[in-house]
Amino acid sequence: MQYCTRCLNPENIYGGITFNEKGVCNRCTGYENYTNNFPTPAQRAEKRQQFVDILERYRSKDGSNYDMIIPVSGGKDSLYQVHIMKKEMGFNPLLVTFNHTFNTKTGVYNLANMVEKLGVDLIRFTPNPQLVPKLSRLSMEKFGDSCWHCHCGIFTFPLRVAHQQRIPLLVSQEKYYGILSAEGGLYNKVDPQDRLFGIRAEAEEMINEERGIHRKDLVQFMRPPQEELDEIGVRGICITDFIQWDSKEITEFLIKEYGFKTKGHDRTYDCYANAECHHCSGVHDYMRYLKVGHGRATDDAGIDIRKGLMTREQGIEMVKMYDSRPPADMKMYLERIGMTRDEFYAIMESKRDPKFWSKDESGQWIPADSVLNHPGPQEEPNMTFTRTENPVDEPDDEHLIM
Ligand SMILES: [Zn+2]
Repeated sequence: MQYCTRCLNPENIYGGITFNEKGVCNRCTGYENYTNNFPTPAQRAEKRQQFVDILERYRSKDGSNYDMIIPVSGGKDSLYQVHIMKKEMGFNPLLVTFNHTFNTKTGVYNLANMVEKLGVDLIRFTPNPQLVPKLSRLSMEKFGDSCWHCHCGIFTFPLRVAHQQRIPLLVSQEKYYGILSAEGGLYNKVDPQDRLFGIRAEAEEMINEERGIHRKDLVQFMRPPQEELDEIGVRGICITDFIQWDSKEITEFLIKEYGFKTKGHDRTYDCYANAECHHCSGVHDYMRYLKVGHGRATDDAGIDIRKGLMTREQGIEMVKMYDSRPPADMKMYLERIGMTRDEFYAIMESKRDPKFWSKDESGQWIPADSVLNHPGPQEEPNMTFTRTENPVDEPDDEHLIM
């Protein structure tokens, strides 16, 4: 198995990877290129102005509609986006949330806190809570990933609102699969293949009469017809193309400015991300580990290594500590979807990537070649890793549907 010599990314990472002649992966070189895009305060101001100029073209002239849709989860990135669009730039956004129904108390608090403190309108869609376990189980069996309803919902529901309310602009913090597929500036090409990469399958493929998943249950998962989106002129724009995005700095600002709450996780050391879903860095991420041999701690350490906050050696320590750890929300998840632990592991059995996993003589799965076997080279001097502590006042292990 090949691993990036700078971060810890393996060759079987989802979405594909390339390595340069020094063995450095394209996510690492991409990060370098990205930070080089914002070199001086003057250039940063210029990029910001370009962004405002594009947005102004979409401002509702007579105030009879919203200026844009911002799909939000209630996490740090959505709060900071809304802060910029509403408070700093004075736009009138409509926030749209797809409720994945695996909410933490912290996430519900953060979403309400955002809407209240920034004074914005929000549409929150909750899918039928009896349907979600059926979809989750089917998604697990099909893709080894429990979250089709969430992947599809977060990309489809805002498009449906754009379609119904005739709001042509979607502002997003990351690549909005299927719509943000052109280069730079305004993204206007809706690419079905790109969308499928983000959501894994369109709703039609999830209809399963035997399991009680009917077409009528999946209305909000159906993408509006392309020609109708074209007629409205639906476009996407990615805020991070124009405004430098440093998640750590952003989170620390939001904690101070808005009382944003973070949440500890049992499968990674980073408490800044995924405060809104207990499942995302829990069972969902553990399934990824069972499939491909790496999890969120590999991602988080990679980000911190690229920023120079952590050495590669320290990153490997994090992977050793977290990636293989069974999640605390396993019992809660299995009860919700009506599955036994044995059934869970039996389904995952066929999903194991032979590039990472092999069986020992006793039939136990063992890593064939983990990152622990790839310690060097040490490019940076030993650094102290620091992260502002934002202690969570009460344990948050609740599972809230709404
Ligand atoms: Zn890398």
